[in-house]
Amino acid sequence: MSLISNHMPTAELQALDAAHHMHPFTANDTLAKRGARVITRAEGVYLTDSDGNQILDGMAGLWCVNIGYGRHEMAEAAARQMKELPYYNTFFMTTHVPAIALAQEVTALAPDGMNQIFFASSGSEANDTNIRLVRTYWTEKGKPSKSHIISRKNAYHGSSVGSGSLGGMAHMHAQGGLPIEGIHHINQPDWWSEGGEMSRADFGVARAQELEAKILELGEDNVAAFIAEPIQGAGGVIVPPETYWPEIQRICDKYEILLIADEVICGFGRTGNWFGSETMGIRPHIMTIAKGLSSGYQPIGGSIVCDAVAEVIGHTEFNHGYTYSGHPVAAAVALENLRIMKEENMIEHVRNVAAPHLKAGLETLADHPLVGEVNVAGMMASLPLTPHKESRATFAADRGTIGMICRDRCFANNLVMRHVGDRMIVSPPLIMGREDIDTLVSRASKALDETYAEAKRQDLLKAAS
Ligand SMILES: *Cc1c(COP(=O)(O)O)cnc(C)c1O
Repeated sequence: MSLISNHMPTAELQALDAAHHMHPFTANDTLAKRGARVITRAEGVYLTDSDGNQILDGMAGLWCVNIGYGRHEMAEAAARQMKELPYYNTFFMTTHVPAIALAQEVTALAPDGMNQIFFASSGSEANDTNIRLVRTYWTEKGKPSKSHIISRKNAYHGSSVGSGSLGGMAHMHAQGGLPIEGIHHINQPDWWSEGGEMSRADFGVARAQELEAKILELGEDNVAAFIAEPIQGAGGVIVPPETYWPEIQRICDKYEILLIADEVICGFGRTGNWFGSETMGIRPHIMTIAKGLSSGYQPIGGSIVCDAVAEVIGHTEFNHGYTYSGHPVAAAVALENLRIMKEENMIEHVRNVAAPHLKAGLETLADHPLVGEVNVAGMMASLPLTPHKESRATFAADRGTIGMICRDRCFANNLVMRHVGDRMIVSPPLIMGREDIDTLVSRASKALDETYAEAKRQDLLKAAS
């Protein structure tokens, strides 16, 4: 039995962690020198670390703890299910009640005409499913050449070989031989960084039309699908210009390309609707879900599939599945999460209270000398930092230098706010009330002031030429 507990001194836990634990997206030797932050408990929207600090979680864990921490009903739902049926599979003509109930519940929330779900344990797995789903769909339709999938640079769709290939993260592609064949990446609708002299609206249309150009380049008969997050999350909370999605929808319709909306972050209330596709006014054929589906209390994800695609797939044996597809405990916990969200009117809370208050609060930071602009969409936001707002300049220092300083100043002020390069991002639990949001904004403001002072001291406020 392990004797390692919450009561051990932080340094000892850190040393043990460094000795045996390889962390995701981390240079482990750097982490070993610095020591990992040890989180021991969490309640509501606050984390507690092993030194007793109370940290406001502006990222909802990793974009997932939408209902906040410490909901005992969730633990009870898991315990009840574990006692009744801890595991059974959904292969070989069997099923169980939690999978039946969750499939019914999720598809009832989904847009009209999306009545089937294929379960996975994560967003990565679900996106791997999607690659096989769309290719199998076109093969079954007698068009096997329609196998290419178009995605976007700086998209995040997961970390498995398939989903990492769908993603457009150059640093991920650089390791391990990604992307797999038949995946193509067009430019992202990031006006702040890449819009140049164009208006936001014109830029949105231009970036969407790259999809049309890519379809024509590959040949209409060779393209299976386009995949995108309604709002890019891990890429830096890139809120697209309003002109972008209508043009993408037009192009998908015109060329009969399947549209996969990766709703892993946007789904389950984050944008003020059940799905980001509603907020953006799009009609996907497949939606990837995970994260907020269970508020992170259990690992579960899936692909919600429209009737037309599900029907075609249903004619063949789909040779795909995970041991834990529709896992009963994860499904029971996800069901409880959705019950809580509905009973506590969480979508209305986001739409009417939390999101408008977050927007108003963060917009008070727009005048800060480091803040280029404030992008808010529901309960996700980004603040690109810049040495010169008018020209949207980047810093002369290595990308991410100022962002990292700001992230550290946030932690020092007991706030989790992430940085993507020199862009600061938040995605807090949806349950945050006005007071929590005021605390978030005032801590962020203080962190920005300290970042400015530190950058000035290190002579880092120069723009790249
Ligand atoms: C997190 C994320 C994924 C991957 O989900 P995992 O559960 O980490 O595999 C996929 N797509 C998007 C948009 C994500 O944010």
